[in-house]
Amino acid sequence: MELNYTKKDVYSGLSEKEVEKATQYTDGYMKFITTAKTEYLCVEEAIKMLEENSFQKIEDVKTLKAGDKVYFVNREKSVFAATIGKENLSLGMNIIGAHIDSPRLDLKPFPLTERDNIALLKTQYYGGIKKYHWLSIPLAMHGVVYNEKNEKVVISVGEDKNDPVFTIADLLPHLAKEQLKANAEKFINPEKMSVIVGNTKDKEVKENPVKANILKILNQKYGIKEIDFARSEISLVPAFEARYIGFDKALIGGYGQDDRVCSYATLKALIETSKKVQNKTNIALIVDKEEIGSIGNTSMNSRAFDLFVLKLIEKTGSKNLSELEVYYNSKMLSADVTAGVNPDYEEVQDMQNASIIGSGVSVEKYGGSGGKYNSSDANARYVAEVMSIFDKNKVGYQVGTLGKVEMGGGGTIAYILANKGVEVVDCGTPVLAMHSTFEVTSKFDVYMTYMAYKAFFEN
Ligand code: MN
Ligand code: MN
Repeated sequence: MELNYTKKDVYSGLSEKEVEKATQYTDGYMKFITTAKTEYLCVEEAIKMLEENSFQKIEDVKTLKAGDKVYFVNREKSVFAATIGKENLSLGMNIIGAHIDSPRLDLKPFPLTERDNIALLKTQYYGGIKKYHWLSIPLAMHGVVYNEKNEKVVISVGEDKNDPVFTIADLLPHLAKEQLKANAEKFINPEKMSVIVGNTKDKEVKENPVKANILKILNQKYGIKEIDFARSEISLVPAFEARYIGFDKALIGGYGQDDRVCSYATLKALIETSKKVQNKTNIALIVDKEEIGSIGNTSMNSRAFDLFVLKLIEKTGSKNLSELEVYYNSKMLSADVTAGVNPDYEEVQDMQNASIIGSGVSVEKYGGSGGKYNSSDANARYVAEVMSIFDKNKVGYQVGTLGKVEMGGGGTIAYILANKGVEVVDCGTPVLAMHSTFEVTSKFDVYMTYMAYKAFFEN
């Protein structure tokens, strides 16, 4: 009898056929993260995926019965999808929740300026970034602008090979002697993260002719004026595509894998398991604003999700049922990435309790920081339940923590549902270089994330 616990790598346990299936899955996933680099674009892709699989808008459905599939879009930035199960809602739901916002650079309300013959856009970063990652790389621009008639204009530049890209020019090392003396946290001034957008003049304009020329181009192309930036949401994201990494192509590099790797797996698992009527009502959540603290009406903290649950209760005809009882009996996987061990920085991890790249999706009992502050510490009984679902379904998983105690820390949306009374545990893909412009995951961990969520929804 083996008494020791040792981590196993996923790949060694897979047949050739399973490896092929994993590759098929990650090919689709990489297309998804290359296409959907903002929460708006993720929601668009999610709606496509759901509608192709006969999910209907919940507003269009009067009553709901077992086997029905519905979704709700919260202000173009979050999606709640459900498949109705055989059991009454009072017995609880199975929920998987991920987030679709990722660290990026947003434009300020009045971003356009001109200095030294160059037109620039002023930015403010969104989420926790290491600022130097964003310098001197090709950037794409995505977002929406409203004009004075309240008409929406969509902007998307930099993904097509024929598009221009944008960039922030870093300071050359030859003249960076003073800059490099600064503390690493301070050496990039966030007010110096201006994005280059032009270098030619409007010949008829005397003052700020380069800025004037850009405004002219924007007006011709999008029908917008400078004031319209004040009613826009425009972001700059890396213009890279997701790519396989390594001679064996066993890893995936791409922007926004936190947390689109779990978002994609959540959607795919719900869609796949919707082909059979399940016992429980299953819920997939992909929400916004996790990276800035889950604040706001498109975040998990918004009561928009309560509204969705109330609609489910009403439309399944469970009239007198309180949503609190539904929450109390519900179970959830908080689907968010965690830190995989970076071989160059083992010292930030407790290696006995760390997530190893390629050893499967990671179950984390708690996150938070220091003395488990701000963490939803899952109940042992529930962790046991989740582990046995994964064991039964041969899901390659590992158990981990996010780094050494007091080394730092991080949170997910787990606590928000836990505060409503739901049983929650964190379960997601280990990532290297998380929050960088080119995050790294293992193809097999990515596939096992999907397999884990599928097993959870089938339970
Ligand atoms: Mn995350
Ligand atoms: Mn994050």
